[in-house]
Amino acid sequence: EKHVYKFGVGSADGDKTLKELLGGKGANLAEMSSIGLPVPPGFTITTEACNYYSSHGSEWPKGLKEQVKKGVHFIEDIMKTNLGDSEHPLLLSVRSGAAVSMPGMMDTVLNLGLNDTSVEALASHTNNERFAYDSYRRFIDMFGNVVMGIPHEKFEHALESLKSEKGAELDTDLNKQDLKELVNRYKAVYRKATGYMFPTDPFEQLEWAINAVFKSWDSDRAIKYRQINHITGLLGTGVNVQAMVYGNMGDDCATGVCFTRNPSTGENKLYGEFLVNAQGEDVVAGIRTPKDITELKEVMPKAYNELLDWGKELEKHYGNMQDIEFTIQKGTLYILQTRNGKRTGHSAIKIATDMVAEGLIDERHAVKNLVEPNHLDQLLHPQIDADTVKEKSVIGVGLAASPGAAVGKVVFDSEKAEEAALKDDPVILVRIETSPEDVGGMSAAEGILTSRGGMTSHAAVVARGWGKPCVAGCSDIIIDYENLSFTNGKITVHEGDWISIDGARGTVIEGRKDVIKPELDENYKTFMSWVDQFRDMNVRTNADTKEDASRARDFGAEGIGLCRTEHMFFGEDRIRAIRRMIISDSFENRKDALATLLPYQKADFKEIFKSMDNLPVTIRLLDPPLHEFLPEEKEDIEIVAKELGIKPSVFAQKVRSLREFNPMLGHRGCRLGITYPEITQMQTRAILEAAIELKNEGYTLFPEIMIPLVGTPQEFRSQKLVIDRTAKDVFEELGDSIDYKVGTMIEIPRAALVAGQIAKDAEFFSFGTNDLTQMTFGYSRDDAGKFLGEYLKEGILQEDPFQVLDTEGVGQLVEMATKKGREQKPALKVGICGEHGGEPHSVTFCYQQGLNYVSCSPFRVPVARLAAAQAAL
Ligand code: PEP
Ligand code: MG
Repeated sequence: EKHVYKFGVGSADGDKTLKELLGGKGANLAEMSSIGLPVPPGFTITTEACNYYSSHGSEWPKGLKEQVKKGVHFIEDIMKTNLGDSEHPLLLSVRSGAAVSMPGMMDTVLNLGLNDTSVEALASHTNNERFAYDSYRRFIDMFGNVVMGIPHEKFEHALESLKSEKGAELDTDLNKQDLKELVNRYKAVYRKATGYMFPTDPFEQLEWAINAVFKSWDSDRAIKYRQINHITGLLGTGVNVQAMVYGNMGDDCATGVCFTRNPSTGENKLYGEFLVNAQGEDVVAGIRTPKDITELKEVMPKAYNELLDWGKELEKHYGNMQDIEFTIQKGTLYILQTRNGKRTGHSAIKIATDMVAEGLIDERHAVKNLVEPNHLDQLLHPQIDADTVKEKSVIGVGLAASPGAAVGKVVFDSEKAEEAALKDDPVILVRIETSPEDVGGMSAAEGILTSRGGMTSHAAVVARGWGKPCVAGCSDIIIDYENLSFTNGKITVHEGDWISIDGARGTVIEGRKDVIKPELDENYKTFMSWVDQFRDMNVRTNADTKEDASRARDFGAEGIGLCRTEHMFFGEDRIRAIRRMIISDSFENRKDALATLLPYQKADFKEIFKSMDNLPVTIRLLDPPLHEFLPEEKEDIEIVAKELGIKPSVFAQKVRSLREFNPMLGHRGCRLGITYPEITQMQTRAILEAAIELKNEGYTLFPEIMIPLVGTPQEFRSQKLVIDRTAKDVFEELGDSIDYKVGTMIEIPRAALVAGQIAKDAEFFSFGTNDLTQMTFGYSRDDAGKFLGEYLKEGILQEDPFQVLDTEGVGQLVEMATKKGREQKPALKVGICGEHGGEPHSVTFCYQQGLNYVSCSPFRVPVARLAAAQAAL
């Protein structure tokens, strides 16, 4: 069996299609090598081998060892040197790389192959003893940390004490003699922590390092990152073993990262950072402040131009903006990695439309690959109104690392951020810099502020990926973890104080600022017009007010999929009427009370219909249990009783009698309409009278009446009868009529099971996946928060099923009901109106099930449009 895939200049065993097997990095290295890019040669161990290792008690699969040896020989042949060679030793890097990029999550070992002999050889071969010993001490540190789990601080500590003994301020102030001494001290740290000597055999080092990468797949932080990012179903990580090239051999060497276009603004210009005489991790770790990539043009013009050319070539090849890691060794450019660059929503749209205009890609490719549904979410995110920000309230300006406005209370550690989020307390996580251990807190916070690090620092990369506002590298502030405060010298902010950050400008502002909604530009409009060309599933909105309805229409909604009528009962003037209806003990009284409500409902429906002229509007009949309209507290009960003109004790008795142990499973939905048909009558009348009046004003309407919480065909039929009879009455009274449809929510598991029978009478189905999830899992919608967090953390659930549709379980009911319904009635219209209707993965599932539409909240309409188009491509 093949466990090892080789790649070298101009050829490779694998290619980019083998991402699952080789990991993203491995597949790319193979692809890049075959394009002819200057990639140092190497090989990739498959994710299958990693999977074997995890599931066979840390054993290697048969043949792996021999294949690794062959792989090393392959590199040795190309590099014309040997691992452990005493004259001209080959050194290796060992890196992880899963099929989905997990920045900063997995481990890397560099300079592998160094020992007391090869370090001397390296020194004499490069004529740079300082460089050789610097590489050696870095290797011991990394190997000790990554492979043996020795805390990095122990090595840092040894470094710092040597520096102070020698009176050195910077690492570079240490001379080669000092570095030799440092190597000895690092070895001592290693021996003390592990009880072993530092391993000298390069092959042994390599085996250890490969095992460490395999193991890192199952590390806590990797597991957590996968949970937060909903990464599931992967075999493991690939292991990439590659010849080392050096960015730290002198002043004609450099290392850096760059994007082929600006990841924040989308501007078509190389964007990135580099460090002269440094190794890769120095840039990413944000320890030394890197230089702008444009300066490379002056320092090393040849390498800069090559980088520019390869950037263009790679964009053409991949049809996407690239994020490139490079090293320049003695003036020669090497590309270590390229991948599709993470970007902000704004820049995603600009890059997509620009690349189409430049003829690099077509519209289909742009819609399918260049913008993620969640990018659109970001575009619609609020921004801080810059005009309202007074100069003196600006505490500092850092890098505009990830756009959007965030307002919250300051916390300094991730755990506190996670705790606050559980209480729905908005917080801003303020850190000197972040590390993979912070991802939980970063995810929980509204926004992230760091005082150190560049655009490619951990905080910046992760925040941008999530579309979370982030200001990074704000060196105007000094953070004091001990006293839980930060200051710019004038303003001091303590834990719990409110601040606002503007991730588009990089500003940190004292206090709680107002935010404004963004304008959607021409590029957005162009892009969304392409989206709609490729989309064949409709997107509707859930809206109960004309404001929401018209906003959603602006966002491209093609009708209303759910208008929750109960929300119209809460207004000052209406609540009294509904309360009177509830406490009525005779049919006549109830009818009277409902008659007062009729004009209100009718007026509301007219407004909503108007904003959806020419489009279908699904109005759902009253759903919640009646006690929700009644007061709970004793004082309120007295006030309301007085208002209604009845004795408080009688009213209190009524309130008590309506209380339920399980209101979600109680007297709600169609059960109300069946026990009080006059409610259904009133609502039907309001809908149809409103529709007919508007029809006569020239509007074109498609009213759809939806019955909630149906579990049996009889329930549906009984309510449909009431609706049809009322319609007949209304039409006779008005001497006019209008077409309407009657359909049902499918939100009780039983309804899905008997969907065929229900479809005999129903003209449409709409999946209420909120209730359907609640009842399928048996998790209360209102109480699940108490344990879902723990479930997600423990990996018992991969996703919150109330956010992302559980396709495996609940999805089966959706599939079954759709199938049974359409078998009975092929033209049956089927949609979804639960919260899942705006969540990209769930939208894809709905498309696969052949649903006619998804319906979601107004701000998610563009997201759903794109997700639907991508599902179709
Ligand atoms: C549902 O249950 O999914 C639904 C849309 O209805 P509601 O959220 O109002 O119960
Ligand atoms: Mg429901």
